[in-house]
Amino acid sequence: MLPADLSGPWARVYVVGAGPGAPDLITERGRRLLNHADRIVYAGSLVNPAVLAHAPEGAEILDSAQMALPEIVAALVDGFRQGMRVVRLHTGDPSIYGALTEQLRELNRAQVPFEIVPGVPSAMAAAAALGVEFTLPEVAQSVIFTRMEGRTPVPDGEKLADLAAHGTTLVLFLSVQMIHKVVPELAAHYAPDTPVAVVYKASWPEQQVVRGTLTDIVDKVRAAGIKATALIVVGQVLDGAEIPDEAFRASKLYDPTFGHGFRKAVRQAEGS
Ligand code: SAH
Repeated sequence: MLPADLSGPWARVYVVGAGPGAPDLITERGRRLLNHADRIVYAGSLVNPAVLAHAPEGAEILDSAQMALPEIVAALVDGFRQGMRVVRLHTGDPSIYGALTEQLRELNRAQVPFEIVPGVPSAMAAAAALGVEFTLPEVAQSVIFTRMEGRTPVPDGEKLADLAAHGTTLVLFLSVQMIHKVVPELAAHYAPDTPVAVVYKASWPEQQVVRGTLTDIVDKVRAAGIKATALIVVGQVLDGAEIPDEAFRASKLYDPTFGHGFRKAVRQAEGS
């Protein structure tokens, strides 16, 4: 909970998830903090500048894309010590590929208190753009957030081919520029006609959705010219709306014959 009045000095630095891009997809808590910030250090490579319109006039806005860790930490720590109201603004949710932990360790070392305000991860904005549910009974009951191995190594047991073996819904961050390497890793476990979607800048005005299958997605993404700021989504759930009625298994949550803590089951008519 934030203090009711944010216009006085703050007792901590706030690390805020900006959401996926659309300025009204930040949380109310995050927006209130931006409204009162004196200094905002934002991840300029990904945060939509439109979100910065929530900042008050005269706020100092620093783009961390050009900074190394010591500079970022100095901007947060020095600002806080000078009595500034400081926000560190991350894209999506700070806990997903946010290079967050190294910043938190430095804040701890400097004895600067902090609080994290979650944000809507881009994966969720991609699901919304695609109009899908990532989890469907008897199709997929798990969602894997991962990335293709690049300059950042991936631990053993988490290589893409290992995760593909589960056959469930896969959301790949930071990988679209290597989609030609992603597809062969997946092909060992997913059928060639498995639906794949690429969502570029989910929730931004320039949002773009490319749909295909494991067989044709590389060419389609190349034709669309998408090289960054995109997610790759893989799995049968992408075709959920097309599953024929006789094969579709609806969730038990709203099944009239399935009772739970909030609703009694209606006894099924005999013979049905
Ligand atoms: N913390 C962020 C992810 C940061 S890693 C989050 O919660 O979403 C950066 C990667 O996230 C990008 O390479 C891209 O794969 C993905 N990404 C971030 N914003 C996106 C958006 N609006 N649309 C699609 N992908 C996005």
